[in-house]
Amino acid sequence: MVKVCKFGGTSMASVASITQVKDIILSDPARKFVVVSAPGKRFGDDIKVTDLLLEAYREKCEFGSCGNAFELIRDRFVGLCRDFDLDLDIDRYLDETEAGINNSTSSDFAASRGEYLSALVVAEVLGYRFVDAAEIVKFKVDGTFDAEYTNDLVAALKNAEGGIVIPGFYGRMPDGTIKTFSRGGSDVTGAIVARGVSADVYENWTDVNGFMVTDPRIVKNPRHIAALSYEELRELSYMGASVLHPDSIFPVKYNKIPINIRNTFEPENPGTLILASTDGYDLPLITGIAGRKGNVTILIKKSMMNGEVGFTRKVLSVLERHGISVEHIPTGIDTMSIVLSDVGDASLLEKIVEEIRGAVNPDTVEVVGKIALIAVVGHGMANRLGTAATIFNALYQASVNVRMIDQGSSELNIIVGVEESDYAKAIDAIYHAFF
Ligand code: ADP
Ligand code: ASP
Ligand code: MG
Repeated sequence: MVKVCKFGGTSMASVASITQVKDIILSDPARKFVVVSAPGKRFGDDIKVTDLLLEAYREKCEFGSCGNAFELIRDRFVGLCRDFDLDLDIDRYLDETEAGINNSTSSDFAASRGEYLSALVVAEVLGYRFVDAAEIVKFKVDGTFDAEYTNDLVAALKNAEGGIVIPGFYGRMPDGTIKTFSRGGSDVTGAIVARGVSADVYENWTDVNGFMVTDPRIVKNPRHIAALSYEELRELSYMGASVLHPDSIFPVKYNKIPINIRNTFEPENPGTLILASTDGYDLPLITGIAGRKGNVTILIKKSMMNGEVGFTRKVLSVLERHGISVEHIPTGIDTMSIVLSDVGDASLLEKIVEEIRGAVNPDTVEVVGKIALIAVVGHGMANRLGTAATIFNALYQASVNVRMIDQGSSELNIIVGVEESDYAKAIDAIYHAFF
């Protein structure tokens, strides 16, 4: 039996939590491969080490070298090594890190150092071997992840003697520079290692007892979910359920390795299993409700648009030229809405609107205010009457105006767009309609 265990930021935050991590790992000899995040928040308004590192890089860009942010990082790691009484020359690693940030030209190196330092500390605490992710997680020249090369390098660790600790979140480019995954990417590293060493299970240790039907910050004590399919997890995490990075599924899919979300602070809780299939599990109709704010809609109106061959292609090529991916395209006979996740830059949005005007000569084209998208997900809703009715009735009862509707063709999800100010109210109403 081989287990890969990834520990998230809260698990890495303090001496107490790392001691807890140590107990979990040492209680089971199968827990041979450990992937760690950078230290996260210790209390409400604490700052995650990754955010401090990004701030240190910003300081370097503005003033020529890292300033106060790096001192806060230094304090955290020096404090951990002192309290564990470690025989690790942490000052040398911190000096190297600071010099590296001062010499770097992209924020990725800085962002990656929280996991690097955290893994050095945890390896020392456990008496495990440290293996740098730069040596085994590889990207291609075009910046995409090199799955096969990486898999061969990780597989070579499979029969190593003793335990191994690997930093999450980053890898190396062919030119030797460090590149990170997107935020929350240590989950992806854990999945990559699980595939490479052919783990029996990928344990993802965090600060909650697994997946709840919805975000516990919005609905108090939401129902716990025992099992989810890979597809449901992807839908939910892509739409905002931040428990696990949506790309964590791809590496484990090959060998159908189960992911087990567990709570570092309640290790006896079985958590949530994420599986290739949840057939045989007695699960509710809806397995999750997730959402995110900040989506913009471009509304295009043109009489007889539906008969105009190539209309959609012309509109979409404008977005393609700007490298922007589209979330949803709800259409009417003479209208088309394009829902984008936040493009950030208002002038870019204006430019896109201008180019759409040039490309298809619409009657009107405008950007309408930001909306929140909410996905209601569950395999159970396929071929089942009344799910949509329940959702829309709940929103109607709560006086929430629905701005957009989309149902995936696999009937795995129904997505609604609502005013941002109605976001929490809408999630609460949908949750209570089903549970
Ligand atoms: P880690 O640092 O361990 O990677 P994250 O902060 O990335 O942890 O993810 C865990 C957090 O996800 C929880 O603390 C919780 O606030 C949040 N969360 C959002 N949606 C859900 C959900 N549906 N179920 C459980 N937790 C959720
Ligand atoms: N430390 C990184 C972040 O904060 C990666 C991770 O925690 O997974 O996004
Ligand atoms: Mg996370």
